[in-house]
Amino acid sequence: MKITDLHIDGYHRVVKAEDAGSGLKAIIAIHNINLGPAVGGTRLFPYSTEEEAMNDVLRLSKGMTYKSALADTGFGGGKSVIIAKPEDKTPELFKAFGKFVDSLGGEYICAEDVNTSPTDMEIVHSVTPHVLGLDGAGGDPSPLTALGVVESIWVTAAELGIKPADLSVTIQGIGHVGQDMTRMLRAKGATVYITDLRADAVAKLAEETGAIAIPADQALTKECDIFAPCAMGAILNDDTIPTLKCKAIAGCANNQLAEPRHGEMLKSAGILYAPDYLVNAGGIINVSVEHREEGYDKDLAHAKVVAIGDTLKEVYDLAKEKGITPEQAADPIAEERFLHPTKRAEAC
Ligand code: NAD
Repeated sequence: MKITDLHIDGYHRVVKAEDAGSGLKAIIAIHNINLGPAVGGTRLFPYSTEEEAMNDVLRLSKGMTYKSALADTGFGGGKSVIIAKPEDKTPELFKAFGKFVDSLGGEYICAEDVNTSPTDMEIVHSVTPHVLGLDGAGGDPSPLTALGVVESIWVTAAELGIKPADLSVTIQGIGHVGQDMTRMLRAKGATVYITDLRADAVAKLAEETGAIAIPADQALTKECDIFAPCAMGAILNDDTIPTLKCKAIAGCANNQLAEPRHGEMLKSAGILYAPDYLVNAGGIINVSVEHREEGYDKDLAHAKVVAIGDTLKEVYDLAKEKGITPEQAADPIAEERFLHPTKRAEAC
């Protein structure tokens, strides 16, 4: 296997691997390890050029540094991409990738991501210990992701001056995370509107929880206090933002803003936006607790996820003080944490 170190400004280490035997072509980008080993998923995708793969891995690894710093996981940020078609996946490919990960001596820890599964990660794990998110003590991360989103919803409601029992929330997508959120919000008496493409699942959850079923195409236009996107990304864009009838947005879907400028557009529309990568960090927090030398601790995972709400409050306060969007406010808080890790450790 040929491993080449690429020197990219602002990144701790970026390496490329090519292995003729298995057909592996992959890049690992380690953005920053000030707070701990770089953790980030392994994305397998048929990128049309190496440049496209490089741009993706650089952008995503940097994003992981910010996400982990805000979530206080004790991890740095990294990501890897394998340039391949999903139908070309083989055990040999993942074993070769495992050797590539292993060559970094633990500075990068991989996990499943787009087009890679826990089964693929088991194969990687047969070659290197530097893999996270396998079936382990922490189990399914979705309940903790839901907890983090619901904490964020309560903090957002307080920001709007609305008590839990007076709050109305529309959830788009009642999958693993959305259904747990529905139960938690209903338990505190909030009015919850639920939508999904799976009408039978909506009807069942509505009957169980007292949530109100609404058609999937009304998710964005339903008048409510908080809209919770929990189905797919890029849902906040030029077409949808003018149709929104909510006061705030807080949900688990990744990359909700189609482009960064849509954060400004929401601010201009007077809609408060809870940055998705802060709100949905429950899963990675769970994995970080699983990774501790002392082993998994359910209470600690729970407490760290609840603390997402404290960070969100900090983000809202800074955004208000500076007249910027919450997305723009989150970045300097993350930077303060990963650029000055000693100060952070002393504060904790
Ligand atoms: P899931 O696949 O279990 O649920 C998604 C649900 O959305 C499904 O029920 C699907 O039918 C529904 N859906 C799809 N398109 C829809 C539409 N147009 N309108 C209404 N419903 C629609 O996924 P999940 O694990 O609940 O995760 C939801 C989102 O949160 C995803 O974007 C995921 O990447 C993100 N996320 C999840 C976690 C986690 O721990 N599961 C962590 C971080 C981020």
